[in-house]
Formats: sequence, structure tokens, C-alpha cells
Amino acid sequence: MRSAAERWQVVCADVADECAKWGRDFHDVTLVVVTKFHPVSVIEELLNVGARHFGESRHQDAAPKADALEGRELTWHFVGQIQSNKARAIAKYASVIHSLDRDSVVDALATSEHRVDGFIELNLTDDPGRGGVQTADDMLRLAERILVAGTIDLQGVMAVAPQNADPGKAFAQVATMSEILRQAHPSATNISAGMSADWQQAIEHGATHLRIGSSITGNRPTPR
Ligand SMILES: *Cc1c(COP(=O)(O)O)cnc(C)c1O
Repeated sequence: MRSAAERWQVVCADVADECAKWGRDFHDVTLVVVTKFHPVSVIEELLNVGARHFGESRHQDAAPKADALEGRELTWHFVGQIQSNKARAIAKYASVIHSLDRDSVVDALATSEHRVDGFIELNLTDDPGRGGVQTADDMLRLAERILVAGTIDLQGVMAVAPQNADPGKAFAQVATMSEILRQAHPSATNISAGMSADWQQAIEHGATHLRIGSSITGNRPTPR
């Protein structure tokens, strides 16, 4: 049985190998460990071996963890769907928000005194009920809104590969959307894509931020 710390080291080495394979610099890739539903002790274990970026998807779980680890050298990434009435509270601890998916969330962050880095979430499914924008036009409209908000540094695009689809194809689509965004916003160069099952394909297609949970933390406990 490996510990989370050991698995983290294995994944770091694997990511470095995969980057080398595609001629990419390992230092250009941020590995965010998604710790949702796991206790603070797992995060402490990972901090001890050098992990610094942690991702959470639910505010009610993330806020107490952020409190418990206040003052530690780490960066919180929020990766889950955001209720706009929680957005300001999330910005108090999260430095990076990967899931900007609609105007109301951006407008709520506009009133926050905490600046955040933000990714526009793309919805790669046909289901409009999923989080994220579905078209390039909607992406560019949301990017303009983010600019007007004045409190969000637009980083780029974020996506989850749809289930039962080829992640390589999905991430190629993400790369195309990223190019379109960069034409209008040249500094928004980042791509948040790739989870435990598909991060290799994400690196191949230019991901700069991997969001990896279970291959590091082990299986998630059932959410309460
Ligand atoms: C849970 C989650 C992840 C990590 O998923 P794993 O398959 O456990 O690596 C990444 N991104 C988002 C948005 C998530 O909700």
C-alpha cells in the first residue's frame, strides 16, 4: 500500500516524463492535487513532501480546511461549480478559480476585495445544464465581463473531458478554444485540463494546470 505522499512523488515523476516526451518544460505545468472529501491530514502529509497547490470543489468543505491550514505555504484552487452567493467567500481563501462559467459568478467576484486568478470553464458536452460556456462567442463575452469586473486576472480556459469520449479529441478542442481566447486576450495562455484518468493526453495538448485527485489521494471517501 502506497501513501498519498508516495503517490504524489510517483505522479510528479510521471508528469516530468510525459512533459519530456512532448518536449515541454515540467516547470510550465502546475500540478494541483484535488483533495475534495479528504481530511486535512492528507493535505498536511502532502505539504510535508512539497505539494503546494490544492484543489477543492465544494465551499462548505473547502472553507474549514483553509481555516485549519491558515498561514501554511500553499495555494488553494477552487475547481467546482460556484453558487454566485458563495463566490465572494470563496475568493477569501482561493487564489485561483478554475470554474468561472457565467456572468453572475463574475459579477459577484467584481465586488470582492480579494483578487483572484480565473479560468473560463468550457462545457464540452451537448448538455447546456453542465457548467461552462459552450461556444467561442460565449467564451469571449464572458472574458469581456471578467475584464470589466477588474478583480480577476484571466488565466485561460478550463475543461473536464466528457465521459465516454476520447479525451485526446476533447483536449484538442480545448486547445483550439484557448487559441481563440488568446487572440483577444494574449496573456490568457493557461489551460487547466487533465485529471487522474486523462492527464497524459492533456499534457500532449498543452495543459498548463493538471487537476489530479484520486491517483494521488487514493479513492475518495463518500461525500457527506
Ligand atoms: C474531482 C475533480 C478532479 C480530480 O478528479 P480525479 O479523477 O480524482 O483525478 C479534477 N477536476 C475537477 C473539476 C474535479 O471535480
